[in-house]
This record gives sequence, C-alpha cells and structure tokens, in this order.
Amino acid sequence: MILRLRPGTPEARVTALVEHLEAAGVRTSRSPERGRPIVATVDKVPSELRASVVAWPEVEAVVDPVGEWRRVDRGFFDGPTVVDVGGVPVGGGSICVVAGPCSVENPDQVQEAAAIARRSGAQLLRGGAYKPRTSPYAFQGLGREGLHLLREAGDAHGMPIVSEIMDAAQLPAFLDHGVDCLQVGARNMQNFTLLKSIAGARRPVLLKRGLSATIKEWLQSAEYLAAHGCDEVILCERGIRTFEPATRNTLDLTVLPLLQQWSHLPIVVDPSHAAGIPGLIPPLARAAVAAGADGLAVEVHPRPEEAKSDGGQALLAGELAGLVADARVMAAVTGRHLASQLPLPSAG
Ligand code: PEP
Ligand code: MN
Repeated sequence: MILRLRPGTPEARVTALVEHLEAAGVRTSRSPERGRPIVATVDKVPSELRASVVAWPEVEAVVDPVGEWRRVDRGFFDGPTVVDVGGVPVGGGSICVVAGPCSVENPDQVQEAAAIARRSGAQLLRGGAYKPRTSPYAFQGLGREGLHLLREAGDAHGMPIVSEIMDAAQLPAFLDHGVDCLQVGARNMQNFTLLKSIAGARRPVLLKRGLSATIKEWLQSAEYLAAHGCDEVILCERGIRTFEPATRNTLDLTVLPLLQQWSHLPIVVDPSHAAGIPGLIPPLARAAVAAGADGLAVEVHPRPEEAKSDGGQALLAGELAGLVADARVMAAVTGRHLASQLPLPSAG
C-alpha cells in the first residue's frame, strides 16, 4: 500500500502516520518525492489498520501496486525518475544513446569505438570488461585493465562510461575507475546477492531484463536495488527468449507503455542483443523511441570482423550515425529531445 499525502502536509503529521504504522509492526519506506510526502508500507497491513490510516484527512490517495514492489511503483514518485549518469540525464523527456563495443579489447579498439560513438552523437560509452560468456573458452574480458582503458576512452571523448559488473568482488575496481553506471546483465538480473551488494555504491544501475524474466520479476529486481539504497535504476529491455530462432532474441516493446503505467523508472532499449543482426537494429531503435523508450543501448565496433565478442551484431560507424539521427527525429515526434553530449575535454 502506498499512501500519498496531500502536498504541504506538516512533517509532524507524516511522522505521526509512520509511527502509527510502525507501532503496529508494519515497516514503512519514504519516497524521495519532494512535492508531497509519500509513504509505502513494506509489510502486509491488517484491514482494520488500513481503514484507520486511509481515513486520515492528510491521505489524498492510496495506491496498491500491481506487483510486490513499492519504491519503483508509479505511485511512489510523482514525476518520472531522471537518472543522472555522469552528467547525462536519462528519462524525463531526455533520450540518451549508449554506444560502444561489446567488449573492451585493446587501447586502439576502444579509443576508435569511442571516437565513432562520440562523432555519431551518442552521449554515453559502453564496453564490457568482465564478460558473461556462454562458453568458458570464449574471451572473458580484460577485467580491471578493461575498465582502465574504457575510462581513458570515455575521458578522452567526453563520455561517461557504462560497464557490466558480474560479481560484488569487482565493485572496488568499478569505483576505482569511476564507472558512471553499473550494468547488471540479463544473466544476473536475479542475482539478488549481487543486487544487494551494489545497491549501496551510490552509482546508477542499468538493469537488463533477464533472458526469460517476466516484467513483474524484472521490477522485483529493481525493487531489490531500491530497497537497498539505489533509487537510480534504469531498466533495459534487451529481448527475451521465445520460440523464434530467426533472431537472437525477441524484442518486447510492449514493456514500454506497460512499464510507464507501472513504474516511474526510465527504460532504455537494447536492440543489438535483441535482434543480433545489424540490419534489424536501426528500425527496431526507431520503433523503440516511438514507443516511448528513454534511450537506446547499441554495440558498435571499428572492425566487427575482428571483434572478440558479438562482432556479428556490431554496427559500423555510418550505421550508428544514422541510428542516432533517426532517434533525434523520433524523439521530436514524441515531444522529447535527444540528450546533449558533454563538452569535449579541452586540449592540453
Ligand atoms: C552486453 O551488454 O554485452 C551483454 C552481455 O548483454 P546482455 O546481458 O543483455 O546479454
Ligand atoms: Mn554484447
């Protein structure tokens, strides 16, 4: 149950309400919303207690989330959440493009990919240093060195960086290199130990949808992050496993209008991992923005044929530039705008 109090309710009355609930053994959670006090109950509320608090004159509305989440529910925050990724706003009418190679491979490759991403109009640089590979014999990523190279490339091209974390033990390396956004990959969406251990890191999290996760399970994972201190969650739809083998996954754009009803969190769409085929990525990206996506996450490589992972789905420089140009148009068509790039670092 989410109790939405009237704007301007005195703090003493909010405290009294919270104490009333807690005295009855019901834990509560307070919204960061500034415009009005909003309090969610964490535990089940007995019907008599519910009737008594709902009757308080300060309670303007009561919302019952459609799933077992609280903080990520639409009713818990008035505006859409805008997540600040190293100075780039994600959500709230500002559309971002996250671009970069699947894996960071060497200094030249990541610098070239960053230059392409920058030139194409992307605001954020992605690159995997710790790779979740299906085969234990496949390239596993450069680890700490990969984060170092990604940081250098991001700094050189004025782009905050996004990289996947697979294990809590890797967190110090991410913090040492100032990774601006921690990506939780599809395979770890329900690694609750990982979610709990990164939630306190004061870094935005890009939470990818699990390979076969329902929308409710996905939001429950976002709630794990929020419940443990991270309200800066960006959801990322990256396609789900279906009966269809013609594409790598099936892009589920239904989540966009649905999640806008259920949650205040921004949603980014990754058409690269959804389709797995470069030619399908630009139209899917256009459709995603048209359907309300707050951003796009795509893979680009200077020489896809040499890529150590996901080369088969990497966009070329010209393809990325076209995709970003289209995203700008689709953003305008839907009354929004493409986020600005950060200034380039001054030479010397
Ligand atoms: C990736 O972003 O490179 C990746 C491994 O994505 P996903 O977790 O969506 O498969
Ligand atoms: Mn990849």
